[in-house]
Amino acid sequence: MLSTLTSLHLPPLNHTHSPTSQTLTPHHHHLLHTFTTPFELKQLHAHLIKTNSPLSSLPLTRIAFACSLTPSFSYAHKLFQLLENPETTPWNSCLKAFAEGENPVNAILLFHQLHCFNVVPDSFTLSFVLKACTRLSDFRTGRVLHCYVEKLGFRSNLFLMNMILNLYALCGEVRDARKMFDKMPQRDVVTWNTMMTVLVKRGDVEEAYDLFLRMPERNVRSWTLMISGFVQRGKPKEAVRVFLEMEEAGVRANEVTVVAVLAACADLGDLDLGRRVHEYSSRSGFGRNVWICNTLIEMYVKCGCLEDARRVFDAMKDRTVVSWSAMISGLAMHGQAEEALRLFSNMVEIGMDPNHVTFVGLLHACSHMGFVDKGREFFERMTADYGIVPRIEHYGCMVDLLSRAGLLQEAYEFIMNMPIKPNGVVWGALLGGCKVHRNIELAEVATKHLAELDPLNDGYYIVLSNIYAEAQRWEEVASVRKLMRDRGVKKTPGWSSITVDGVVHEFVAGDEAHPHAEEINQMWEKLLERMRMKGYVPNTSVVLLDMEEEQKEKFLSRHSEKLALVFGLIKTKPGTPIRIMKNLRVCEDCHAALKLVSEIAEREIVVRDRNRFHCFKNGYCSCRDYW
Ligand code: ZN
Ligand code: ZN
Repeated sequence: MLSTLTSLHLPPLNHTHSPTSQTLTPHHHHLLHTFTTPFELKQLHAHLIKTNSPLSSLPLTRIAFACSLTPSFSYAHKLFQLLENPETTPWNSCLKAFAEGENPVNAILLFHQLHCFNVVPDSFTLSFVLKACTRLSDFRTGRVLHCYVEKLGFRSNLFLMNMILNLYALCGEVRDARKMFDKMPQRDVVTWNTMMTVLVKRGDVEEAYDLFLRMPERNVRSWTLMISGFVQRGKPKEAVRVFLEMEEAGVRANEVTVVAVLAACADLGDLDLGRRVHEYSSRSGFGRNVWICNTLIEMYVKCGCLEDARRVFDAMKDRTVVSWSAMISGLAMHGQAEEALRLFSNMVEIGMDPNHVTFVGLLHACSHMGFVDKGREFFERMTADYGIVPRIEHYGCMVDLLSRAGLLQEAYEFIMNMPIKPNGVVWGALLGGCKVHRNIELAEVATKHLAELDPLNDGYYIVLSNIYAEAQRWEEVASVRKLMRDRGVKKTPGWSSITVDGVVHEFVAGDEAHPHAEEINQMWEKLLERMRMKGYVPNTSVVLLDMEEEQKEKFLSRHSEKLALVFGLIKTKPGTPIRIMKNLRVCEDCHAALKLVSEIAEREIVVRDRNRFHCFKNGYCSCRDYW
């Protein structure tokens, strides 16, 4: 670069004659401040030479601006080189124009030539070049600039230091960032936030929290960073705790905070807090924010309040594909397939193009309701009409759709013809279908693949062992259990949670040590009596442990969703809905029990399990026993 510049030869300019712009014609005078093309610049330059005017009549920033609009940089270089007595200020104007223009790389190129003109960079020079580096994610030049900052004594310039730190952060240069952060003589809230961002991005949310606790002062960005950091790492409880502390500290949440907290509420199923944040966001004038509305839809869906989700959706003025997809998926999860498909038609009618998420929702809807042909049609239309290449989720939905409908052979062939490697969800869907439709042969195939993909998950083995048990093939049942023991497979403990008065109560299966265990037990006995009168017989086939029938029944009654349900019945007002979250699928016995309790206790019971929602009401479930 430098050699090409120094090898340029232009006729020397004569600077000794009358250095005024009065020698310019009105046309050229006008052009001097408006030129934008290299041609106009050359025209001006020629005129200056002809009239013996000084080159300094050319406004440098204008040249820089012209250059940032057009890629003809070399001509400007020549002009720069011809300038005498360079001062930093006009250079800075050029650098600024370049850094903010279309080709920020020009600022970096120009910066590298400055020393040819004996220009000493000042803090503005560095800040403009750093801006260009940031826009280009060029941390190598950033390191050079970092050296300049140290050499030229700008270490105490917090603005520059923060810019460099931010550049390292942006480029994922975590070690450089940390080293710099630790050595910085001063830090402000921006410095701390930048360092926390690095850590959160890298997934070190604990380390970020450590910094957060050490911060001398925090702003809304610091709090929000921590909240969304915890949400991203799957720690919604911690996120909510930090949010409550933020409220206590009197810091007002902004839109980003609201979105992060709502996501935490969705994960936790914490409807009370979700509602409160919704009200806050309306009061704060965020009601029209599409991003917030989309998160609200998702929160209400995941908390089992489909009507509230729909209200938010209906009230939205501008809906994006995310809004439509969230609503369609929500309807699908709640078993309202017809409404999901109707909404899709509306979406297409108004000319909104669906994306891959929309189709996951649609395929889910079809699969949960057994609409096989519709599902096949959507799978084809997705690519044919919208050019969407199916992802693993779509294949998973299709296998689920076929398997549930009993088309197991077709499902298996579908898997074998997949252009991408099937994952655990795909094989798990086939296995689920094999259990319902009692196909031992394909169940064995699916389990073999699942055991390879996820050897320590007990769920598959249990399903296979159930399938053998139903076929009364006890030897195989025993061999599956031996296999589980040999491989060290541990049973995933089931847990359920319920929120009462803003407090999340968790129950694990068989929880005898719970402070309310006694109370829950008594209530369950009472319920059980009335359930038996309605024909309830505990379905002990779901219990795989070797124990007496009576013990099995007791074991069943300690399933975590039953404990959470009874706790909810005791602790909430009669008639109010009960919302339970569960980490695994609901078992058949609990499903039957919850249906009966919804009728006996006259309560709506909403259970969110690993895959979907069950809304129990008057003895029926929204899944119509198809899950
Ligand atoms: Zn159960
Ligand atoms: Zn159900």
